[in-house]
Amino acid sequence: MTSLRGRCFLGLVAVCLLGIPAWAAGPTVSLAVDASQAPRKIFHARLRIPANPGTLTLYYPKWIPGEHAPDGPVDDLAGIKFSAGGQTLKWRRDLLDGWTINVEVPAGQNEVLADLDFLSPATLEGGFSAGSSATDKLAVISWNQLLLYPKGWKSDDITFSASLKIPEGWKYATSLNMVSAAENDLHFAPVSLTMLVDSPVLTGQYLKAVPLNPRQNPPAELDVAADSAAALEPPPEVWDHYKNLVAQAGALFGTQHYRRYHFLYTLSDHVAHFGLEHHESDDSRVSERGLVDETERKLDASLLPHEYVHSWNGKYRRPADLTTPDYQQPMQTDLLWVYEGLTNYLGVILAARSGLWTPEDFRHDLAGVAADLDHLPGRTWRNLQDTADAAPQLYFTSRAWYSWRRGVDFYDEDTLNWLWADVIIRQQSKLQKSLDDFCKLFHGGQGGTPALKTYTFDDVISGLNQVVAYDWRGFWTERLTNHGPGAPLGGIEGSGWKVEYKDTPTDFYRSSERNANLVLEVYTVGLRLREDGTVIDTIEGMMAAKGGIGPGMKVVGVNGRRFSGDVLHEAIKSAKSGSDPIELLVENTDYYKTVKLEYHEGEKYPHLVRDESKPDLLGDIIKAK
Ligand SMILES: [Zn+2]
Repeated sequence: MTSLRGRCFLGLVAVCLLGIPAWAAGPTVSLAVDASQAPRKIFHARLRIPANPGTLTLYYPKWIPGEHAPDGPVDDLAGIKFSAGGQTLKWRRDLLDGWTINVEVPAGQNEVLADLDFLSPATLEGGFSAGSSATDKLAVISWNQLLLYPKGWKSDDITFSASLKIPEGWKYATSLNMVSAAENDLHFAPVSLTMLVDSPVLTGQYLKAVPLNPRQNPPAELDVAADSAAALEPPPEVWDHYKNLVAQAGALFGTQHYRRYHFLYTLSDHVAHFGLEHHESDDSRVSERGLVDETERKLDASLLPHEYVHSWNGKYRRPADLTTPDYQQPMQTDLLWVYEGLTNYLGVILAARSGLWTPEDFRHDLAGVAADLDHLPGRTWRNLQDTADAAPQLYFTSRAWYSWRRGVDFYDEDTLNWLWADVIIRQQSKLQKSLDDFCKLFHGGQGGTPALKTYTFDDVISGLNQVVAYDWRGFWTERLTNHGPGAPLGGIEGSGWKVEYKDTPTDFYRSSERNANLVLEVYTVGLRLREDGTVIDTIEGMMAAKGGIGPGMKVVGVNGRRFSGDVLHEAIKSAKSGSDPIELLVENTDYYKTVKLEYHEGEKYPHLVRDESKPDLLGDIIKAK
């Protein structure tokens, strides 16, 4: 705790020198959050909100930045009470919008006191930042869950003066500047509502801060909180890889749009696992052994690079129609193929450039992405653009029927598409230019402090054309609107590699399958199962689906033997040399039936194989700069 506080106090000097903030045009709200009961998963907040007599309209943040959806967890808001001058005030929720609350302010009052509680999920639940966020040993404080703000102002124009009480003895990390910190009572320098919501706090009993570039400016730091002290002790080279990440991202973009960056990394089996980007920090959560276990480390290797890239691509450069003045106005998600797709591509290449992945790990991951997208019949009716347009809904759909419904495919599919764009730039410029030049041009700029520069589709096309002249409008229009039949493999093939299916899996593939408690026979008979045989999805048009199997059923037997992943894999393997069908005993809504699959092509696992007729551009792309 002491070393962290020492570092944060340095920030206080900087803020004082800056004087009165420029955003002081609107009201100042004071917010006191009591997270001292975090292990009970209840957080209390008290706000003082300037008001005039009459109706005060307050909003609970609805459209959460980075989550691209109206998923502000208003159903977990409880204990709401308003008072003014010691008098309890009447309030009522807007009948057309559950995130809007109207409070009646009596004559003579100019301030409303609001009390509210946020009920963090009591059992393990997903749902991004509104998912499980507190354990006995740690918590992530997302300010948007703990406040209301007055209607009529942009979030840039409302100042929040926030304080936070954390459990006794817990440490903390945040990109917010401190005014004071006595024991577990933290007071932050006033910031705009925009920056407050953009600056979560990670707190916990076991929290380690690792400087990632102590000699460089601006500084970056990896702050890791875990459910045990042991989870904070990975092999020393792990920290070196994250130091490399900061250096490699600096080399890629040429400048930074933060004053200091905090990777806020939560390691717990009892929190929702995801990553959420912010200008000067991220909120990334993986399992407790996410750093100490080599397999888990490799499976999560691109998470921090992805969220870090967002500081440039998503926070500094953001689609104009995704940029809203507050959290109430709907966001338009049509350009997420840039915001998330390009970020995903840069995230995986930075994972390789920084050493978090070996070149082989990177290729194994890419092979799996390409193979999955090549077995996606939903593309025949839904194009890639529609996966972005429908993102606010698709983030919350079930994995059942994924291959036919499609999901938020602009992450993985645009990884392939941006690789393709990178290859085109290299080919057209005779290896003189690359997508790195686009990143410097598009995401570089002045740097130094958080800023926002919006863009449109035309700006992206124009930026690419400034790097190398090409029919970029035609390229992206085709990529976003085509219906296949297969995945866009032009980037992989142009970079000197091919996707091939072999009868043995890579270690990376098998460990991904085991780690996720899955049994995958996607590329053979079209089955995606849980390890107990429950059918998550069937690939429409492939043998299992044609045989009558569908999501929600359960494979309980294989060739007369009780189901297990090994038994199914072995049956598919041995059917190659025989002529008997594979017999699956399937349970569906209390009934059993036998499904016979006439499949004899053996096991199929995706690999990237070198095409020696072309230069190895993929090797150049992932080389450290
Ligand atoms: Zn992202």
